[in-house]
Amino acid sequence: MALFVVLLGPPGAGKGTQAKLLAQSFDLPHVSSGDLFRDHLKRETRLGLLAKDYMDRGGLVPDNVTVDMVIDRLSQPVCQKGAILDGFPRTLSQALALDEAMEERGEQVDLAPLIQVSDDEVVKRLTARRSCRSCGAVYHLLFNPPRVEGVCDVCGGPLYQRDDDNPETVRNRLYTYYKETSPLIGYYCAKGVLREVDGERSIDDIQVDLHAVIEAL
Ligand SMILES: [Zn+2]
Repeated sequence: MALFVVLLGPPGAGKGTQAKLLAQSFDLPHVSSGDLFRDHLKRETRLGLLAKDYMDRGGLVPDNVTVDMVIDRLSQPVCQKGAILDGFPRTLSQALALDEAMEERGEQVDLAPLIQVSDDEVVKRLTARRSCRSCGAVYHLLFNPPRVEGVCDVCGGPLYQRDDDNPETVRNRLYTYYKETSPLIGYYCAKGVLREVDGERSIDDIQVDLHAVIEAL
């Protein structure tokens, strides 16, 4: 039986990390919308060029382009046994499009674990990133701090906080999450596939819970 898992959670919940680990232990492909974008852009596919066109004009890539990229990947033989999805669907309309495409093939989203992290914790985590001005190395004051405060381990350059990581930008990302992505929680709950997991613990502890949730299927 195929196993399709959609990981949900706010930015900074660690979905990418957990998705990678799950993909390894269940021997399933990790389908990340970010990776798909980069891959299509690099290979200059029709969808990649279409996405680039929107981005070059400063716009958002429309849902149907993203949906087509994901469906395209899911229809490849490598995803026959299932997949761990991360970063997709991001909106209710993407979730509906995904369900429709999967239904046509007799498949469905089997599980949607929600990695729960409070707003305060999200802000704390996402504002703790520091980058090196000289070599671009990235640090995290909580999870991967530099040996000397404010100084790059690699090259000794000065560390700074990028605009992406300042509290106001992070609050905006959270707002977008609540507005666009959080409706998926109700959607998957109504379908009986939502499972809540406490995300304010170690990577290993969260992974153990995710395993339990999948094995209980
Ligand atoms: Zn450096």
